[in-house]
Amino acid sequence: MFDLLLRRARQVDDTLTDIAIVDGKIAALGDLNGPARQSIDLGGEYYVSAGWIDSHVHCYPRSPIYHDEPDSVGIRTGVTTVIDAGSTGADDVDDFYTLTRKAATEVYALLNISRVGLVAQNELASMAHVDGDAVRDALKRHPDFIVGLKARMSSSVVGENGITPLEKAKAFQRENGDLPLMVHIGNTPPDLDEIAALLTSGDIITHCYNGKPNRILTPSGELRASITDAIRRGVRLDVGHGTASFSFAVAQQAIRQGILPHTISSDIYCRNRLNGPVGSLASVMSKFLAIGMSLPQVIDCVTRHAADGLRLSQKGRLDVGCDGDLTIFALRRQPCLLVDAEQESLQAEQMLVPLAAVRAGKGWLTEQGSAEHAFDF
Ligand SMILES: [Zn+2]
Repeated sequence: MFDLLLRRARQVDDTLTDIAIVDGKIAALGDLNGPARQSIDLGGEYYVSAGWIDSHVHCYPRSPIYHDEPDSVGIRTGVTTVIDAGSTGADDVDDFYTLTRKAATEVYALLNISRVGLVAQNELASMAHVDGDAVRDALKRHPDFIVGLKARMSSSVVGENGITPLEKAKAFQRENGDLPLMVHIGNTPPDLDEIAALLTSGDIITHCYNGKPNRILTPSGELRASITDAIRRGVRLDVGHGTASFSFAVAQQAIRQGILPHTISSDIYCRNRLNGPVGSLASVMSKFLAIGMSLPQVIDCVTRHAADGLRLSQKGRLDVGCDGDLTIFALRRQPCLLVDAEQESLQAEQMLVPLAAVRAGKGWLTEQGSAEHAFDF
């Protein structure tokens, strides 16, 4: 007996499949016959992918500067897993962990290498906050919750410390089993070339298409040599749209040169969710459709690539044995003016509309899903 059977789900390659979930895991795929406790026929009308993973959000409700609720950026928008990118350091990660246990969304954390986390904009301006023992102890307390480290390397964050916090982050990474390290790039100093030189295979550059002068493109629009080399070494590019870190022009020029993002993420928190320019992960994904990526490419960036980047081996794929996390969505012809973080706009002809999410076998309708009464959980 299946717990949940989705019938005639459309995959992004336009083939249809049935998907069965038992005990929170994907149990069978293909042409299936029940019985099932709950069965929903999608009639080939709706797309289903592995549950969307947002690799960069802020959802520690007690951060005084970048806060939100996990389910507001997660399950209610069709996102089954969120990775909080450094809202907490060693001092607050226990509190954050406890709060996330109540969420329907699966939450993981990248631990800020500053023990104080995002209580202020300049968490790396004092090296006294960059404490290797505190990092090691936090990782020991939360080996299943903390999936990596986060270092924000821009002038407003590091103050007078330049590249030093990143050197520390690389040392912490080596001392703790080579966890993924996500590095935020922004205004100089430190210079992006100096940052890129320190990164190794598996490290993640977030805000990769930001429009600031310290961007990945040279003034003539080519990819910086330091970034070409970093990508060749296995460094990954993450979008991290955010309030101030995504430029259509930079993304278009980079993608034209074949520099696609590995992961599409939102850097969402309450203010840029409610007031723009982020809105939701679906809206950020729609921007990449509008600048020419295909639907399968965009979906890969929030499923398989995101799971690989953060080593979530049970997620990101529609495979038997993987977590029973799914996103049900539509791609609608819906002309819409989309705006980046530089107040530039782009006319989109189609929008991704998340209608429901299944997390460990349990279904949740999004706002649009409940408004449309398309199907029921
Ligand atoms: Zn962020």
